[in-house]
Amino acid sequence: MKIIIATQNPHKLEEIREIARLFGVSGVDFEAIDSSLDFDPVEDGKTFEENSYIKAKEANRLTHAYTLADDSGLCVDALGGAPGIHSARYAETAQKRIDKLLDALKGETNRKAKFVCAITLINPSGEVEFTGRGECKGEIALSQSGTHGFGYDPVFLVDGTSKTMADMSEDEKNKISHRSRAMQKLFEYIKKNY
Ligand code: IMP
Repeated sequence: MKIIIATQNPHKLEEIREIARLFGVSGVDFEAIDSSLDFDPVEDGKTFEENSYIKAKEANRLTHAYTLADDSGLCVDALGGAPGIHSARYAETAQKRIDKLLDALKGETNRKAKFVCAITLINPSGEVEFTGRGECKGEIALSQSGTHGFGYDPVFLVDGTSKTMADMSEDEKNKISHRSRAMQKLFEYIKKNY
């Protein structure tokens, strides 16, 4: 089974392939959407689910293949769920986003947060075939730690561990991440149905 990943980001494709390897999934060939296609969806949904649908649907319109999209972000309790679907645009650079977050939580004792990932699989007929959500719970650290990963990883302390996501190896993160948890649900669906 071939699934086109609705992203121009090679890191995301690699991560999905890595998660599939980690969970022993075979027979699914994940490919990036052809870079010559004009794939530029307008992500104006109000939820992670809506945005993952918009991306998967646009990729399907262009390819008429199985298409999979994910949409993810960080939701912080004390900030009413922000930055949420706006995580990528919270500030200009990755470091500025971290600084802004730590600043917004200065003096705050409730530092509970979660990473969320919603995925949508659309079939060649253009119908939604599968949707799933994965979450990873934790807390926002007082300062950053670790060099792995990307985005908010250096300030996200994973529940049940004493590590930030950036302290974890790629394999460690891929076992517990929001994206991995959403993808595991998809793998179970594929195993059952294909
Ligand atoms: P996207 O929808 O996967 O492109 O993610 C949107 C934004 O959420 C990213 O640009 C990051 O800022 C943040 N984010 C999503 N997943 C992660 C993660 O695993 N670690 C750190 N930040 C993440």
